[in-house]
Amino acid sequence: MKPRIVRASESKTKIAPDDLFVGQVLQDQVFVPEDPSRLRVTRVTFTPGGRTNWHAHAVGQILYVLSGVGRYQLEGGPVEEIRPGDTVVIPPNARHWHGAAPDQMMCHLALSESDDQGNATDWQEPVADGDYTQAPA
Ligand code: MN
Repeated sequence: MKPRIVRASESKTKIAPDDLFVGQVLQDQVFVPEDPSRLRVTRVTFTPGGRTNWHAHAVGQILYVLSGVGRYQLEGGPVEEIRPGDTVVIPPNARHWHGAAPDQMMCHLALSESDDQGNATDWQEPVADGDYTQAPA
């Protein structure tokens, strides 16, 4: 890991793959893991209605909401509203999804690490509209 400042101008915004996300979602890599760190930091911008598929993280994930109004659900729990300044702590191997509110965008930082085998995220099926549109708790 070399000491440096990674300039914002060095990275290009990518459109998130539509086999892993629903709707228009943008990803900006803030930090890509460099040995010995396993930390990846991504800024993710979800347009209204945009969300991840169901998925789980091998060693968990931290989300920090930067702007907008979002939704988050841990399987078996209620849909919860998340707002700027909120930190969401997601345990290892817990099935969940996160995204924007139906009529508002949401931008968060996503912080995650890989395990000893290099696994970080286990991607699964899309979140059904009926699950996504539940009124938040
Ligand atoms: Mn996640």
